[in-house]
Amino acid sequence: MTSWKSEQVLIVGGGIGGLTAALALARRGIASQIIEQAAAFKEIGAGIQLGPNVFRMLERLGLIAPISALAVFPENLIMFDSITGEEVSRIPLGDPFRKKFHHPYALIHRADLHNVLLEQCRNSNLIKLDAAQNIVDIDESDSGIMAKAVSGKAYRGAALIGADGLWSTIREFVVGDGKPKPAGHITYRAVLPASEIPEQYRWWNMGFWAGEKVHFVLYPLRTGELYNLVAVFHSNSYEEGWDSYGDPAELHERFAPTCAPVRALLAKIESWRMWVVCDRPPIKNWSRGRITLLGDAAHPMLQYLAQGAGMAVEDAVCLADKAVEMDGEYANAFRAYQQARYLRTGRVQIMARVYGEFYHAGGVAKELRNMMLGSRKPEDAIAAMEWLYGEQTELGATKAI
Ligand SMILES: Cc1cc2nc3c(=O)[nH]c(=O)nc-3n(C[C@H](O)[C@H](O)[C@H](O)COP(=O)(O)OP(=O)(O)OC[C@H]3O[C@@H](n4cnc5c(N)ncnc54)[C@H](O)[C@@H]3O)c2cc1C
Repeated sequence: MTSWKSEQVLIVGGGIGGLTAALALARRGIASQIIEQAAAFKEIGAGIQLGPNVFRMLERLGLIAPISALAVFPENLIMFDSITGEEVSRIPLGDPFRKKFHHPYALIHRADLHNVLLEQCRNSNLIKLDAAQNIVDIDESDSGIMAKAVSGKAYRGAALIGADGLWSTIREFVVGDGKPKPAGHITYRAVLPASEIPEQYRWWNMGFWAGEKVHFVLYPLRTGELYNLVAVFHSNSYEEGWDSYGDPAELHERFAPTCAPVRALLAKIESWRMWVVCDRPPIKNWSRGRITLLGDAAHPMLQYLAQGAGMAVEDAVCLADKAVEMDGEYANAFRAYQQARYLRTGRVQIMARVYGEFYHAGGVAKELRNMMLGSRKPEDAIAAMEWLYGEQTELGATKAI
């Protein structure tokens, strides 16, 4: 008798969320087919931060070693005032931090992370990968799911996971709540060789300069060979889009009041890529029968807690656990998965908005922020991160909600 595990699950989207979902299912013996619309499986050239909560999941997936080999482990999270350039707060990420959360804080090139996941998928005989197939239609019957691509190719599976990101097509079928909401914030990202970075900033830190309606981030990648730069500012002149080349004139105008080191770093960059930042309010039902969502498709969030990919990785592990617990009854498994996840992910979505306000505060709010953060002891700052980085009772429900 064939096991339910050999009936493949369709995964639409081969980003960090989709690949991790396939690996989490494969680790539990479940077959899957990943379908990606892009001509090839790849990630954009920029950095990504991984908190200890992500490492806890990587441990479950047996991925700590290959990912650690490519990551940088920063010594501190440092916040500066972007106008005065003064240091506001410094959170050490050494032993006390690692002891508390049992895992480190890491910085990694997105392509490196994606490549590790992709290679692991390619090495699994339970995972099939198809690129250049844009899924436009899905059909559910009692026996399973049929997904159809623009090319006419059709895929059959026992269930379907929409890991197709912020502009998810599958979400339209499941939730139907229209487009995500632009936050009125624009993000520019670039990666520079270390030789372009002034000596004092060739550091082993995750540093950011917070200022009124702007902030700027700088951190090392690939053993300090490269530096990741992120500049964010408020703007009403946005255009929907996820990965386009921007016009840096507005960027330089918005950063004109910032301190000399920030402006000097911005001036080093000739080619920026631009994102219009979007999210959605949290929802508690993102499944319909044998179809569910994962990662940005389910709970897109602003990037201010650096947790969008982290939540997708947590989703993946939780979903695979629930599929096994429910013995392949996918409709029940997906309900149990979203029940375990929605408060956790909703909290991160909401808190990411709050942190955005906090980082971009001006006037009295900024004074208060600097006073509060500046007077905090490192151990108090680390304790305040428990809700995000600490062990979750069931991945989903945090102890502290
Ligand atoms: C500026 C910025 C900084 C960030 N920094 C961090 C950070 O430091 N840490 C962190 O954890 N997160 C961070 N994030 C968030 C993180 O990038 C996302 O949350 C994460 O990449 C989402 O992964 P995903 O797999 O859900 O979606 P995606 O990465 O968007 O992948 C979706 C995939 O689905 C494919 N697809 C879409 N539609 C279809 C279709 N119809 N058929 C087939 N394929 C389809 C797409 O081509 C894509 O490959 C940041 C985001 C931004 C904008």
